[in-house]
Amino acid sequence: MGSRKSFGMMIMALGLAGGLVAALGLLGADLSPDATWLRELSAQAWFKPLMIALLGAAALSLVVTVWQMIAARLERPAPATSYVRKSDLKVRPNEPISRLPAYRDVLRELCLQKSLSAIDLVNHLLSAGLSLGASDIHLSPGANGTRTNLRIHGLLYDMGTLPEEIHPFVVSRIKVVSDLAIFKKNTPQDGRIRLEDERYTARVSVLPTNHGEKVVMRLASQHGGLYDIEHLGMSAEVLDLLKALLNRNQGVIILTGPTGSGKTTTMYACLQHINATRGKSVNIVTLEDPIEFDFPSFSQTQVEVAQGLSFAVGLRSILRQDPDVIMVGEIRDEETASNAMRAAMTGHLIFTTVHADSAAGVFNRIVQIGIEPVHLASAVCAVISQRLSQRLCSHCRHEAPITPTQRRQLELLNLPSLPEGPFFASSGCDECLGMGFTGLTSLYEMLVVTNPIRDLITQGIPAHKLHHAAAALGMTTLLDDGLAKARLGEVSLDEVLRVVTI
Ligand SMILES: [Zn+2]
Repeated sequence: MGSRKSFGMMIMALGLAGGLVAALGLLGADLSPDATWLRELSAQAWFKPLMIALLGAAALSLVVTVWQMIAARLERPAPATSYVRKSDLKVRPNEPISRLPAYRDVLRELCLQKSLSAIDLVNHLLSAGLSLGASDIHLSPGANGTRTNLRIHGLLYDMGTLPEEIHPFVVSRIKVVSDLAIFKKNTPQDGRIRLEDERYTARVSVLPTNHGEKVVMRLASQHGGLYDIEHLGMSAEVLDLLKALLNRNQGVIILTGPTGSGKTTTMYACLQHINATRGKSVNIVTLEDPIEFDFPSFSQTQVEVAQGLSFAVGLRSILRQDPDVIMVGEIRDEETASNAMRAAMTGHLIFTTVHADSAAGVFNRIVQIGIEPVHLASAVCAVISQRLSQRLCSHCRHEAPITPTQRRQLELLNLPSLPEGPFFASSGCDECLGMGFTGLTSLYEMLVVTNPIRDLITQGIPAHKLHHAAAALGMTTLLDDGLAKARLGEVSLDEVLRVVTI
């Protein structure tokens, strides 16, 4: 592009010079009658044709230059090629964690190479992360080099240390492929790596630290199979209840739990189930912040508060779009809450999340936002509370008696009697890289709004009383679900006690 431009400039300069000479030559004799040499020169037979040819060349060069300028304007910007090609990555999906040391060894070898390449390092980290099912890749610069880590099933695994001198090049490479400003080193930046392989995405966050820029790449595999209610880790009883709820045509199903407890995954799985069982006869619309997964069969809208598209505004517009099933990422204001409740009573099935400690606590939270308990009681059909917990490694788990500390913690829960084991623990092995865990599972508590519960909500009773009333009516609490999974050896008793707080 640059050489073409300078060539054009050269042609124009030559053309203009030629034109000037020709103009002076033709008019010179008349302008300065004393210059005899000029008169003699102009009397030559070849003089006039040469000057006319020069003038012609000048005009032509001018036309060519103008044409080039117009063409450059019309030409679309050349497509950028700064993405990671499919052939750059060697992704073998669903590699077991026990393969992580092999990826670590390759990274170490890459670092020892004489021609250390930032491109190879970034490609290898992406390949390793995607193969091992990592959710995040961390690059943390420090005094002794850049620590690299993969977060797999909630645990952070060490991938090795990169030499200090390569760090700026690695960061630049990541910025190039994620369309970030390379020279901005003192401001946090967010981007997305443009991977040619559309099954995967990587969101990039860059943060300045005292040792350089720290990078976290959040990975996602676009495998819709991840969102299947059968694979969420629900007990058969909870799963049956959920399937019955998903057959309904109206009502609000609320999810609650701490950030990162898998609420969005559960909502996506519910929507996928409705899509699979009711086919194309339902219009599924979502309002999210952010959109975490692109589903071909739903209409998904991203909340953009800066552009005036809040949850409240978005929901108002969605309701004019004749939806059957609506997912609203979160309810935290009165307008969204009241529109959702009204929609749920007029033939729409709504999924949303509300921040609360327990399933029973959700009702008080929505009443605080400004919804009448009576409206809430008639609109909401169920609340699901969930927690993520580490799944015990099936290779090294073993039965373990209740320790005195666990006994004291259990006594604090005021259970009618101490739960009976056997319970399990793990000591770590090669299969789980010594961690004792090989993934995550979820604990669930589902409060279905039946008539007795509806009456209690209308009366506005405190959350803990509603919780006990629901448990007395047969609700499986988070603790019940956790203890059942602990007896099966899926999770440890410590893990249950850690994630269940009532
Ligand atoms: Zn193990």
